Amino acid sequence: MASNDGHGAEIVVIGGGIAGVSAGYALGRHTSGPTITVIEAEGQLAHHTTGRSAALFIENYGTGPTRALTKASRLYFHHPPPELVDGPLLETRGVLSVARPDQERYFQQALAEGRAVNPDIAEITIEDAVDLFPPLRADRLSRALYEPGASDIDVGRLHQSFVRGIVAMGGTISTSTRARSLSRTGGRWTITTSAGDLRADLVVDAAGAWGDDVAQRAGIEPLGLTPLRRTAFMVARPESLPARAPLTAEIEHEDWYVKPDGAQILCSPADETPSEPCDARPEEIDIARAIDLINEATTLGITSIRSSWAGLRTFSPDRTMVIGPEPGEPAFIWCVGQGGTGIQTAPAAGQLVADLTLDGEPSAVFDAAATGLELDVDAITPGRFRRVGPSAR
Ligand SMILES: Cc1cc2nc3c(=O)[nH]c(=O)nc-3n(C[C@H](O)[C@H](O)[C@H](O)COP(=O)(O)OP(=O)(O)OC[C@H]3O[C@@H](n4cnc5c(N)ncnc54)[C@H](O)[C@@H]3O)c2cc1C
Repeated sequence: MASNDGHGAEIVVIGGGIAGVSAGYALGRHTSGPTITVIEAEGQLAHHTTGRSAALFIENYGTGPTRALTKASRLYFHHPPPELVDGPLLETRGVLSVARPDQERYFQQALAEGRAVNPDIAEITIEDAVDLFPPLRADRLSRALYEPGASDIDVGRLHQSFVRGIVAMGGTISTSTRARSLSRTGGRWTITTSAGDLRADLVVDAAGAWGDDVAQRAGIEPLGLTPLRRTAFMVARPESLPARAPLTAEIEHEDWYVKPDGAQILCSPADETPSEPCDARPEEIDIARAIDLINEATTLGITSIRSSWAGLRTFSPDRTMVIGPEPGEPAFIWCVGQGGTGIQTAPAAGQLVADLTLDGEPSAVFDAAATGLELDVDAITPGRFRRVGPSAR
């Protein structure tokens, strides 16, 4: 893969969620000394999906490349630059996945995939599962899988660490600055924004649900990104449920999940409803469905909720994120399709943006010897959606 000459380059990153700031931070650290400007359409950073997540770090989750990025992110989560953080980024919680007899196939798959990423991920007895999460109705369950190292992420602190890093390197972060059109003449981009024109050598598209919209404004063919709405809401936590009990979910992670959160419990129907890019709002029907499912599977007896929200998890057609220069237009860099794992993969995803943009290949932090998992670069770069002929998707 050819690399760009990024020496002293001016780079504009579009989007101030976790994808944009992690990419801006990693790009700014490169020895070629690029100048970074992150622009965010909203008046505050992380207003959209980044501010609406369940804040979990789970190794047994997502596609193969996602798992490799999660592994490669561990280093930053455990040893972030001390000058950029004021406390830990992770707090161990554990994730418990339970299965009914009719979900045996999914259990076997999750167990095999889990063992491949981390030998600590193992089957436990139903009795042990109920010890960990007392409200479970044991009589309907046949299997349970536990990932003890799964952790809560301090999303605000993680996001802020990248923001601090960008500012410390002399970069700029501009809110209330929406990219309206992008044109390229004489080897430079002109980005027309709601706050005036910007010039750049390279543009990074980290616009989340608006990733394809931004690409089209730059004359780049869209990837076919699909924003899928996911609902979350809070209910009161009974004293019988420990505050640090594991996140507990149906084995497919697609039926419901619950996570104690202080005096409350975060609940979700794990819904995936296609949506236009927008300021997502929860639907009553999704909340009602989640309450039914959770009350059937547990003794929580939910009757009312305290608050609710929704966010858009945006997926590429193969559900793996898309990172790297657009084939044929290497000054346009994709960093989109983070789906349901954009927080836990952010340190490595940002680094990969910088590596592929400025060096043309992944750096040593992605070596399987260091992470424990091979990263298939071809499965993450945009070229996989641009091939023509018999091998096309
Ligand atoms: C309920 C829920 C639970 C989740 N749980 C987890 C979890 O436990 N762990 C995990 O890792 N992930 C989780 N996720 C997924 C995670 O939140 C996302 O993958 C991640 O936040 C995506 O970040 P992003 O920066 O790509 O998108 P966003 O945070 O949406 O940022 C994109 C930004 O681009 C801006 N933008 C768009 N167009 C323009 C423009 N033209 N000009 C300037 N700016 C523009 C937008 O305003 C937006 O702020 C969850 C998501 C949801 C909804």
